[in-house]
Amino acid sequence: MSAVTRLREQICATGASLFDRGLTHGSTGNISARLDDGGWLMTPTGSSLGTLDPARLAHLDAGGRHVGGDAPTKEAFLHTTMYAKRQKTGAVVHLHSTHSVAVSCLEGIDPANALPPITAYYVMRIGALALAPYFPPGDMALADAVGRLADRHHAILLANHGPVVAGTSLASATDAIEELEETARLFLMLRGERIRTLSPEQVAELRKRFPA
Ligand SMILES: [Zn+2]
Repeated sequence: MSAVTRLREQICATGASLFDRGLTHGSTGNISARLDDGGWLMTPTGSSLGTLDPARLAHLDAGGRHVGGDAPTKEAFLHTTMYAKRQKTGAVVHLHSTHSVAVSCLEGIDPANALPPITAYYVMRIGALALAPYFPPGDMALADAVGRLADRHHAILLANHGPVVAGTSLASATDAIEELEETARLFLMLRGERIRTLSPEQVAELRKRFPA
């Protein structure tokens, strides 16, 4: 099996796993991965992550032109912005995962770090979660807002919309967005409780031991 064929299969298996566990729904959510030649594979517009067909994934060349498969997701610009700003990005996952979306709708969230450091794995996989302001889906102003944050953040929460996470590989991007969703769920469970978050010293120690 060629590397490209393997990557196609991996994208579809990841989509099915996310969909089957309720991490995204309907035709929401999209996945992309970089190819060795500088191009990308991307989930098609209007597709359900639960029923992706490896042969129909959108294929974009290194210049971003659509050269094969179905048309790419309408949210392709979220992905291309992350790749443009973060050179080591191998994959990007965007979901409308319920608990992360719920946090993105809360009034008074810190735009520099939308969730507190409540667990070590959240700090290790996400670090500081930036909040991008609301714009309608497909609005290029959203790409600009993401672009302004992406050089400093691999994980960005789009207000009233959902998370977008870049990783060096599809496995690392998926791991991180799942950690984010679980942390959002824990955070909502703990609302109203007095939370003992990790201290700045504990966060600094984790970053030293597990550099991103
Ligand atoms: Zn979206």
